[in-house]
Amino acid sequence: MAIEFAQKTRRIPVYPAAAGYSLGSEVAMLASNEAVFGPLEPVIEAARRAVIGANRYPDPSYRELRDALGERHGLPASRVALGAGSCDLLLAAGEALLEPGAELVYAWPSFSMYPHLAAATGARAIEVPLTGEAVHDLEAMAAEITVATRLVLLCNPNNPTGTALELGAIAAFLQRVPDHVCVILDEAYVEFSLTVGDPLASLELLEAHPNLVLLRTFSKVYGLAGLRVGYALCGSESFRVAVDQVRQPFYLSAAAQAAATEALRHQDAVEQRVTATVAARTELTAALAQRGYWLPSSDANFLWVRVSDEGADADVVAGLRERGVLVRGGSALGGPGFLRVTVGSERENARFLAALDALNPAGAGQGAGR
Ligand SMILES: *Cc1c(COP(=O)(O)O)cnc(C)c1O
Repeated sequence: MAIEFAQKTRRIPVYPAAAGYSLGSEVAMLASNEAVFGPLEPVIEAARRAVIGANRYPDPSYRELRDALGERHGLPASRVALGAGSCDLLLAAGEALLEPGAELVYAWPSFSMYPHLAAATGARAIEVPLTGEAVHDLEAMAAEITVATRLVLLCNPNNPTGTALELGAIAAFLQRVPDHVCVILDEAYVEFSLTVGDPLASLELLEAHPNLVLLRTFSKVYGLAGLRVGYALCGSESFRVAVDQVRQPFYLSAAAQAAATEALRHQDAVEQRVTATVAARTELTAALAQRGYWLPSSDANFLWVRVSDEGADADVVAGLRERGVLVRGGSALGGPGFLRVTVGSERENARFLAALDALNPAGAGQGAGR
């Protein structure tokens, strides 16, 4: 007899893992929106020091990192939640907020983790299509909120499209959401956004909206994806208490906490990385547009490019992979015909363009333009 698993295991989608972790260093890893930059030397040193005491469990209140985040964002530590990556906080939010009969609302295509929340809890997911310009349709999303709604997810800038909403539009949307509905504003890429402008700007929204949670991560601009640290800045303490309640106490390693705390002290490095990424993004966007590809303007460290007729993106992804360039196909992310490519190093971006040109010598040609 085979093991009998819970019904939800048949509902939960399998995460579309990026291929290539076994392919070695000769591959351009442009599939997961990671930073091209490695951790800073003092960050590595902080993690090393933490490992010396690794016979002890980490401090389960994670005081050091929560205080540092509270200080940087002008919030009491009681309103700072942590997780093993922000995905850990998303799943915990699902567990704490959702159940059969409850509803959650999010845009689609958006972050591939969101469908997981309904599948894992038995809640009903309402996926609201992006506009033709690949932007959140806030009007349509507001119209989907009912008495059953417990959670609304906004991804700004949105993964996989890179598009961003202005904070004024989000503020107007929040006015329409009843106070008992939790809104998570997923800001994994906010540092790269010229539309938002300042990663501290959205904090102002928290003052008027105790039901709002800003979700952030050390995986992208801070370059610590491998250590798994995410955080949430909460409009009220109750969110932090609830997500801590549904998880094991030791979700964050001592090394991860120490590295993240140190990384926060180097905002100058963050700014340099953002400047370099934005310059490379502008250049890559222009190069693709010049070849006739349609792509929405990106506020993140990746681009969403229409490369083929619907369904044929997998062929383009395979062709790029054969040439040592790893990207994501849109079909797996809810946008057939598109691919999502991370803005990498100068050399990687050039390699991506050369590989794409080899596959599509005439540029966008038929089908891919718009
Ligand atoms: C990468 C990403 C995250 C961060 O995931 P971690 O678990 O913190 O590594 C969260 N949301 C979105 C939209 C992302 O793209």
